[in-house]
Amino acid sequence: MKYLVTGAAGFIGYHVAQRLLAAGHQVVGIDNLNDYYDVNLKLARLALIQSSDFTFIKCDLADREGIAQLFRNEGFDRVIHLGAQAGVRYSLENPLAYADANLIGHLNILEGCRHHQVGHLLYASSSSVYGLNRKLPFSTNDSVDHPVSLYAATKKANELMSHSYSHLYGIPTTGLRFFTVYGPWGRPDMALFKFTRAMLAGEKIDVYNNGQMRRDFTYIDDIAEAIFRLQDVIPQPDREWTVEEGNPASSSAPYRVYNIGNSQPVTLMAYIEALEKALGIKADKNMMPMQPGDVLETSADTAALFDAIDFKPQTGVESGVQRFVSWYREFYKV
Ligand code: NAD
Repeated sequence: MKYLVTGAAGFIGYHVAQRLLAAGHQVVGIDNLNDYYDVNLKLARLALIQSSDFTFIKCDLADREGIAQLFRNEGFDRVIHLGAQAGVRYSLENPLAYADANLIGHLNILEGCRHHQVGHLLYASSSSVYGLNRKLPFSTNDSVDHPVSLYAATKKANELMSHSYSHLYGIPTTGLRFFTVYGPWGRPDMALFKFTRAMLAGEKIDVYNNGQMRRDFTYIDDIAEAIFRLQDVIPQPDREWTVEEGNPASSSAPYRVYNIGNSQPVTLMAYIEALEKALGIKADKNMMPMQPGDVLETSADTAALFDAIDFKPQTGVESGVQRFVSWYREFYKV
């Protein structure tokens, strides 16, 4: 089958493209290669994709005509939409980047799917849609109407936009609420990468809330495998209905949202200890108070995911952090 993977030079997009290619599929990857973080890391990921079944096109999600032309020229069976402006903190200072990439960009992808009979659209949402003070574990049955960052608001908006397109045009859409993803080729703006760089440079690391926040850290290979399996779980409408009958009371859209997490939250301190062990360095810690807007714990209810794909995450934090460190040392030669 032929896939569009957006954000293919990004952390998750790169791994998902590799997973699809390993299974013998054709992949067109797009990315605008922006400089939110080191472009060389993005280029290095792309350089590693050797397959002749892979085509890379530099393209901006917000470029309406560019995206329309891409769909017209290529024709995709399925779309895995992972390109976005990521990061909660950056959204406080740069709101417009989120409007362009995450709102206009998502709409352009929906339009492409609508006009070109795409069989399944899977797209990145985020655990950040759950906001503050939630009951644990986070369930997709809970309502999530109070995002506390613009980033989270755009991710919730992506789910709402997808629902309307699923409902109006029958496009099967699956939203993926990722929980703190980490692993080789990970993002330089995320904690594991920052801590590793600082510890190797002999610098202090900032540890918020005395390291007592708990996070449902999820290893990248488990994320890629979950997406790979979910793409075959095509949402069906709950029931058929006719225009004469009028809209049914509940939506009949072929629309689903899943939590994609490890379901085993660990404290930030345990995560740091795993890193200390993998690096063989004791961290010099700057203990900081809780930051406004920070969540005390994230934890994914993944029962629906496991039912759908018959797969449970395979990698715990100790070995996942170890694999990240091995990659980091090799890539940066430190
Ligand atoms: P990433 O930043 O590494 O990847 C995103 C890619 O999209 C980047 O390569 C970037 O250049 C590209 N991009 C950004 N704006 C673009 C635009 N306007 N046009 C074209 N390309 C553009 O981030 P990631 O960690 O791989 O995240 C992938 C998706 O998963 C994102 O939607 C992110 O919000 C979501 N997500 C990630 C995590 C996580 O822990 N990594 C958690 C929750 C949700």
